[in-house]
Amino acid sequence: MSHSSYTLLIVDDEKQNRTLLLELLKSDYRIILAKNGVQALERAREHGPDLILLDVMMPEMDGYATIHILKEDESTREIPVIFISALDSASDEEKGLELGAVDYITKPFHPSIVLIRVRNHLQMLHQRRLLEQLALLDSLTEIPNRRRFAQIFEQEWHRCQRCKHPLSLAVVDVDHFKRYNDTYGHAAGDEVLRRVAQTLNGTARRAGDFVARYGGEEFIVLLPEMNGTDAQTFVEQMRQDVEALKLPHATSSVCPWITVSIGATTLIPDSSQPDTDFFCLADSFLYQAKRDGRNRVCWGSAEARQEGN
Ligand code: GH3
Ligand code: MG
Ligand code: MG
Repeated sequence: MSHSSYTLLIVDDEKQNRTLLLELLKSDYRIILAKNGVQALERAREHGPDLILLDVMMPEMDGYATIHILKEDESTREIPVIFISALDSASDEEKGLELGAVDYITKPFHPSIVLIRVRNHLQMLHQRRLLEQLALLDSLTEIPNRRRFAQIFEQEWHRCQRCKHPLSLAVVDVDHFKRYNDTYGHAAGDEVLRRVAQTLNGTARRAGDFVARYGGEEFIVLLPEMNGTDAQTFVEQMRQDVEALKLPHATSSVCPWITVSIGATTLIPDSSQPDTDFFCLADSFLYQAKRDGRNRVCWGSAEARQEGN
């Protein structure tokens, strides 16, 4: 008996039907059973199944009402639902599909057809998940991209706001990278970006530390629950780790090696919406680091920036 890693939720008010489907699918999938709509909603939220097989005719809350609630709840909205129903008119099927089901199978069903349809829908789900993952990775460096950063930033912002913990943010920019490309060629430049990405990622080893490629030769680092003092030490380590690679850069005015400048800032989130000024602030400290001579860290708080202006 070889289980795949998929979990199926089977919902039917009649025990005989539940048993039939359970016997049919249990050797391939992990199965959770529910005998009515209310239980289905509970178990869907609790277990996050990969697919739901949903009966239509059930007392109190029928399958149509159940799918309606599943599709309204953010935590269950994406779970594909297949109706398995004794209602076999075109209008019943149409209604089910209209409500967001991916498929509609009529009872009595042919076991082999149910198996194949379930397998097909799980395969589509697998492909969709792969694409979603790829869409969040930067293809050159294979670290998370800016889109992924936006998701993580929002999560961490809310988490630190709830706990009243500090959140630090750093923007890392390769120094004189245009000259590097001009001197060594674009392909060599790409390799530098990969090496720098790996290095920054290697420095960020605490769970929760997050590095993404923001674009071009810029990287962004999110450090949840890290105060300003620790953040300064931390990003200084990043700067040193990149310099220690000693990737030759003959045309840099700063150093014979590839170096980075880093702007960083820290705050305790106090608004419910992530603050876009937070990024601008870190970026303004990056420009300060560039003006001060590159290959350095410039950390500051929001207050320091206002006083400086
Ligand atoms: P500064 O020290 O002030 O940051 O100077 P800089 O030359 O690094 O900055 P600038 O913004 O003038 O140039 C950035 C360069 O980065 C220009 C662009 O061609 C290069 N670049 C952006 N993305 C990539 C990439 O994916 N691969 C390569 N090889 N180069 C890239
Ligand atoms: Mg029923
Ligand atoms: Mg640069």
